[in-house]
Amino acid sequence: MAQTPPPSDSAQDQWPALSPLRTGLACRCPRCGEGPLFLGFLNLREACPECGLDYGFADPADGPAFFVMSGVGIAVTLLFLWMEIAFRPPMWLHLIFTLPLFVVGCLATLRPVKAWLINEQFVRKASEAQFSFLGRSGGSKAE
Ligand SMILES: [Zn+2]
Repeated sequence: MAQTPPPSDSAQDQWPALSPLRTGLACRCPRCGEGPLFLGFLNLREACPECGLDYGFADPADGPAFFVMSGVGIAVTLLFLWMEIAFRPPMWLHLIFTLPLFVVGCLATLRPVKAWLINEQFVRKASEAQFSFLGRSGGSKAE
């Protein structure tokens, strides 16, 4: 038995399929790949100035901060341990080198990681779970 293709979203079909990693790391719109995502360092725009995509779907919450702190924290901690074992530097060297490296590493990667997660959220149509067996009485949209 032949499977039927999923229903197509006609508004989505006119846009080329873009790599969410590429558009995310460039901090660009997930639909057109041209418009900027952010207004400032981490504040999202209301919509894409190029294609008009409403960024209201984007809600990465604290996911980017968690991934960035974990990844950079592991890398900097490994560097700290290696420096301690190999050179046994004085503690002030860690204060002026290792600690700022952690802060700069987090700040440098937080923006592209947040943009990447928003792009993945758009491409994979990720959103808050909707449980049909609970009916419509559980949310504020039911009124
Ligand atoms: Zn756009």
